[in-house]
Amino acid sequence: MRRIAVMTSGGDAPGMNAAVRAVVRRAVAFGVEVIGIRRGFYGLLREEFEPLGTESVHDIIHRGGTILLTARCAEFLAPQGQAAGLASLRGRGIEGLVCVGGDGSLRGCAALESLGLPVVGIPGTIDNDLAGTEATIGFDTALNTAVDAVDRVRDTATAHERTFVVEVMGRHSGFLALAAGLACGAETILVPEIPWNVDVVCRGLRRGLERGLRQNIVIVAEGAARAVDLGAQIEQATGLETRVTILGHVQRGGSPTAVDRNLASQLGAAAVEFLMEGHHGLMAAVQGNVQVGVPLRSVTASRRHLDPSLHELARILSA
Ligand code: ATP
Repeated sequence: MRRIAVMTSGGDAPGMNAAVRAVVRRAVAFGVEVIGIRRGFYGLLREEFEPLGTESVHDIIHRGGTILLTARCAEFLAPQGQAAGLASLRGRGIEGLVCVGGDGSLRGCAALESLGLPVVGIPGTIDNDLAGTEATIGFDTALNTAVDAVDRVRDTATAHERTFVVEVMGRHSGFLALAAGLACGAETILVPEIPWNVDVVCRGLRRGLERGLRQNIVIVAEGAARAVDLGAQIEQATGLETRVTILGHVQRGGSPTAVDRNLASQLGAAAVEFLMEGHHGLMAAVQGNVQVGVPLRSVTASRRHLDPSLHELARILSA
């Protein structure tokens, strides 16, 4: 293989730049040329290509976002879009592709692989919801951002004896909410995967109030409830003065943690090594602290499951 491409796709995640840097520099060390594709599959269909060398990825390991930009692209969902993408890559003499992104992006990778292009995906999403890997690039940074924010909210909650409902990202998965809630000692954690009931939530807060606890942190994943609605319901049912904080996109930005930089560096290098060894149709993943290749088919066929025992542990410890 003499020329490969790299792209970032879907929601941005801190550490994507570190992954791009690793892909480029590992490939250069193999004597392989690297083409960057801007704006993910959207840019692929518009042939937004730029050659990347060692210098192109200088001074980016610590930066959030992605120098290659990212996008979503409905056209690529259709077979015609995928065929056009393949033609663009072939037209540039690109023999392999590394793509950093979440579940949807990995489906896009699988589509190109099934058309005959060697592809390796890298898990990059703050949701940490991908099957086949114990970690995704960006999760650790987003988690630390959320924990820092909730700690700050806790200070003012305590000072004013208020209850705060804090909404964190996670439309379909509660990994971020659960990990942040456990780390912050949240009184209540609501995630999409575990059924919950507002009466039970309020009963728990009332029990705390009977013990003199007027300040509470309720962490809710955006897919479990709207924080604004939940806050109003809590205040009405319990009489606790309740405020709402929505962390929103602040969780996506910022300098990646050392954990995410190192994960991205290792997975980026592993992705190139897989391609060079003739292994593709894979996601470069981490299992038991070791980089492994997991078939894209098995990653996209299922979702990573939340550990309910962790939710139960958080409940016991916050009682
Ligand atoms: P995040 O988890 O942060 O949302 P993601 O990679 O899952 O990231 P998506 O918007 O789901 O983000 O997917 C990114 C892009 O991947 C889509 O806009 C589309 O171009 C492509 N894609 C998604 N699903 C498929 C599919 N089934 N087949 C081909 N391409 C797909």
